[in-house]
Amino acid sequence: MTLEELQKLDAQHIWHPLTQHKTANSPLAIKKAQGNYLFDMAGKTYFDAISSWYTCSYGHTNPVLTQAIKKQVDELHHVVFAGMTHEPAAQLSKKLIGILPDNQQKLFFSENGSTSVEIALKMAFQYHFNRGEKRNVVIALENGFHGDTFGAMSASGLSVYNGPFEDFFIDVKRIPVPTEENLSEVLYLIDELTTQNQVASFIYEPLVQGAAAMQMHQPEHLCQVLKCFQEKGVLTIADEVMTGFGKTGYNFASEAMLNKPDMMCLSKALTGGIMPMAITTCTKKVYDAFYDDELARGFFHGHTYSGNPLGCAVAAAAIDLLTSDAIQENIQLITQSHKKHIKVYQSHNAVDSVRSCGVILAIDLAIEMERYGSKRNEIFQWFMNHGIFLRPLGKTIYIVPPFTTSPQELELLYKALLVFLDEMTSKKAQFL
Ligand SMILES: *Cc1c(COP(=O)(O)O)cnc(C)c1O
Repeated sequence: MTLEELQKLDAQHIWHPLTQHKTANSPLAIKKAQGNYLFDMAGKTYFDAISSWYTCSYGHTNPVLTQAIKKQVDELHHVVFAGMTHEPAAQLSKKLIGILPDNQQKLFFSENGSTSVEIALKMAFQYHFNRGEKRNVVIALENGFHGDTFGAMSASGLSVYNGPFEDFFIDVKRIPVPTEENLSEVLYLIDELTTQNQVASFIYEPLVQGAAAMQMHQPEHLCQVLKCFQEKGVLTIADEVMTGFGKTGYNFASEAMLNKPDMMCLSKALTGGIMPMAITTCTKKVYDAFYDDELARGFFHGHTYSGNPLGCAVAAAAIDLLTSDAIQENIQLITQSHKKHIKVYQSHNAVDSVRSCGVILAIDLAIEMERYGSKRNEIFQWFMNHGIFLRPLGKTIYIVPPFTTSPQELELLYKALLVFLDEMTSKKAQFL
């Protein structure tokens, strides 16, 4: 197919996510991707600085993952997961439980981050219901993001585009991200919100709030908040859809806290960006509230593609990669390298603030702009013109490079960021 034919068909029939088609440029046609690079149909190459929305952390078409899926493809593609099971799921369960915080014992499969959150919220509501308590309130962090289905959307504090749906939301109360300064106020607020015993669950993104433009917080304050909720019988849900699988330097961000969550939501890098798959994990305590002679106490939730064997096979291989010495060393290398470079950017005139956590590095520019406005688009285009794919969020430019990024590639990325900042401050800059 020629590029023109593709673009014509796309424009005719395809509705893209998060897009106002009237004003958007036509989407870039990608021919293939390999390692840390995307190749478009016009022959241009781009470094994938955000691992395609934090999924392909081991690089595109990673041969280990390709091999895992090829092996599975001749055996079993899909089968009903209600009343049936298979070896890929069993293998994956052993590997995943092996790296999760110890208290996580049961895995519930679905296909995307939003459904993994939806499942966690429903599980928490029914957990209390099964124990004879009516708890119908969820508490979430300000500026959290948990996905685009109704429950997940209700829990998300970034509701810029949720206007048409707000009347249908579940009851969610919000608390600020706990910090050194506000911790006692936040604990007091939690006390107030929980006096009626109506709170079913508390959902949060540990260490890094991704969609809030990579906002970061310290684990110790959040850890106290978790403890406080757990004392009040509120189930805690760590949404690690973005932070999971190595991005924060830990296998899971929850490892940074002594108090472990009651449930966890996983997706994005779970399969290394190959198959859409998600898992909601929980403790035995949660599971036991559903374990009963009575049918209706079970969890009657299920998606057609639950536990897809191809997804399971590739996720198990991805965990082998994650826990390999080579990848673990490179994660630490990128982490240290980011820390060093923070100082360079911090003193730059064009920069307001810089932060990093694991392989995530975020720079806030010293100008105000809209989340998806025209200035933001110009910055996006600047990096694309320089062969780097990243997606600025308002004034924040961030990178989450694949774990397979080499020191040389990292240097090129840092340099491009610096050139951009220099151009921004010089008169040549078109953005100011
Ligand atoms: C991406 C994301 C989701 C939603 O996942 P989808 O697969 O896009 O539905 C939920 N929570 C967090 C923290 C995410 O980053």
